[in-house]
Amino acid sequence: MTQTERFEFQAETKKLLDIIINSIYTNKEIFLRELISNASDALDKVRFLLTQGKDVYQKDLPLEIKIFLDNKNKTLTIEDSGIGMTKEEVVENLGTIAKSGTENFLKEISKEKGDAENIIGKFGVGFYSVFMVAKEVEVKSRSAKPDARPVLWKSDGMGTYEVAEIEEDLNRGTKITVYLKDDATYLLGKEKIKSIIKTHSNFIAFPIYVDGEKVNTIPALWKEPKFKIKKEQYDDFYKFLTHDPEPPLDYVHISVDAPVQFSSIVFIPPKSTVIFDAISDEYGLDLYVNRVLIQKKYKELIPRYLGFLKGVVDSSDLPLTLAREGIQENRIIQKINSTLTKQVLKKLEEIAEKDKEKYNTFWREHSKVFKLGYTDLQNREIFAKLLRFNSSKCKDEKELISLDDYIKNLKQDQNEIYYVSGSDRRSCDNSPYIEKFKEKDIEVLYLYEPIDEFILQALTEYNGKKFVAVEHADVSKLDTSKDKKEDSVDVSPLLKKIKDVLKDKIQDVRTTERLSQSPVCLVNPTTGISSQMQKVLQLITKDQSIPKYIMEINPKHEIIKELAEAVSKNKGDGFVDLTINYLYQVALLQNGFVPDVNEFAQNSFEILKKAGKYLIENA
Ligand code: ADP
Repeated sequence: MTQTERFEFQAETKKLLDIIINSIYTNKEIFLRELISNASDALDKVRFLLTQGKDVYQKDLPLEIKIFLDNKNKTLTIEDSGIGMTKEEVVENLGTIAKSGTENFLKEISKEKGDAENIIGKFGVGFYSVFMVAKEVEVKSRSAKPDARPVLWKSDGMGTYEVAEIEEDLNRGTKITVYLKDDATYLLGKEKIKSIIKTHSNFIAFPIYVDGEKVNTIPALWKEPKFKIKKEQYDDFYKFLTHDPEPPLDYVHISVDAPVQFSSIVFIPPKSTVIFDAISDEYGLDLYVNRVLIQKKYKELIPRYLGFLKGVVDSSDLPLTLAREGIQENRIIQKINSTLTKQVLKKLEEIAEKDKEKYNTFWREHSKVFKLGYTDLQNREIFAKLLRFNSSKCKDEKELISLDDYIKNLKQDQNEIYYVSGSDRRSCDNSPYIEKFKEKDIEVLYLYEPIDEFILQALTEYNGKKFVAVEHADVSKLDTSKDKKEDSVDVSPLLKKIKDVLKDKIQDVRTTERLSQSPVCLVNPTTGISSQMQKVLQLITKDQSIPKYIMEINPKHEIIKELAEAVSKNKGDGFVDLTINYLYQVALLQNGFVPDVNEFAQNSFEILKKAGKYLIENA
């Protein structure tokens, strides 16, 4: 044995170990799932090297996992003939935390203060979970590199670990001896261990032996004929793949022979894994070639907007030595991608038709990611069909309608689909732009997320009906024939006055039929985007300037009528200016922009002073 070196765990690792050791997590046995999964990864890696014809130590060693229970010494040992680790790798892998999953785990823990129980199960914390049941752990490893030397790693999980190269004649792979804590010795029952393996590790692709008896039974479920597989098996496979304790919402299982041969099972998880609102860049399906795992989370197999899917793809048309740049390979992967995409979209359509409740769950959980699909030109039609919105006619903010539902509700002669953007239902409900639509009982889609407007812009129309922001709608098309004819006032002097007062704060001023409750509103002259969208874009580009809008006035509104009269009679000059400015500022606020606050306050006080005088005069 060379000299033993003692190291300290990296700070994050210490924190993690502390949480694990002190947690009262009841499902401690998941540590075995983590160790078996590491062993399986190590075996996948060595199998991959072998298929590539690389020089590997002990080429003919069977690829397997062996577990031994020692009741006398109270130890559990798990041994694999995988890729093993050199001394440097042991220090690198078992002394520090590299994987992002664990980072998320720590973030989530600090958010939910101490509720480690839930989170350990959800994330899986890898190797270190062994310290839930171990008072000491000994790892012996012999790397697959031909001239590597065996190495020993030892720790009680309390802050430091020891590493040394050893002289022992080890087989290739890793052997982990777990010295069980007193309250974990129940794990030494063979039946107990077998049932844990069946629950969590049944789908491991390598044989697992417990004291010489083979335990796992069903590898490569995706290669089995569909009619032979029961729902529970799919559920179990999903739980195995994702560590999710809940069964999936649904799944697609396909086997295709032409033009490309592949089998695949993909699952729709019951819950979103989007953390802190960030759509993860880590997605993809596990790619196998003839049952040999090539890469986990292979992105190119699905488009990003289906990145919520979990599952596997196995193709015999791909070479084991898959090169990312290979043109032929890329063509095959592309083909698999487009076939899978179509199948999944078809599945979603089927769910939407048969089980509205389930579809709404899908939408609630995964629409954030799914909405990115507006860029998929090839599947645009079905994508649009799958969209859901809240609308002015929904009974609450939870209800969802499809574009087909909207079309069913069209008024006679209505040739457009109207929408308004706002941060929530209330702000859409109260938007001045939709007043006329409410009056006419015309449905308006409510868009709560910036991406929604991008989607409608990209689609431009649905079933021949154009998407139009309410503020850009030509309200004269909205059948105004039944509107009360009110005595109109001549507003042209007022229009001129407004231009004089607001000068280059606005682009223009005009009358509108759009409003019924509000005296004025501000609309975006560049007809593409709505004013709300413009606000969002400015937030993104950190542009704080106030855009130059077109001001629209409602000639039937009392305030406007009075203003118009005052202007044409040349009366109340100062107060007219004040009111015009004030109306402009209020409209800005309604569009989400803050006018000069001091000026706004001064204007408000001036107006209140007049109101005060009125009160006294009329007391
Ligand atoms: P993860 O497996 O998610 O990366 P772990 O903490 O479980 O995180 O393991 C850390 C690393 O240690 C692994 O990525 C792997 O490189 C190495 N490792 C763990 N167990 C084994 C094993 N049985 N054989 C070879 N390497 C292993």
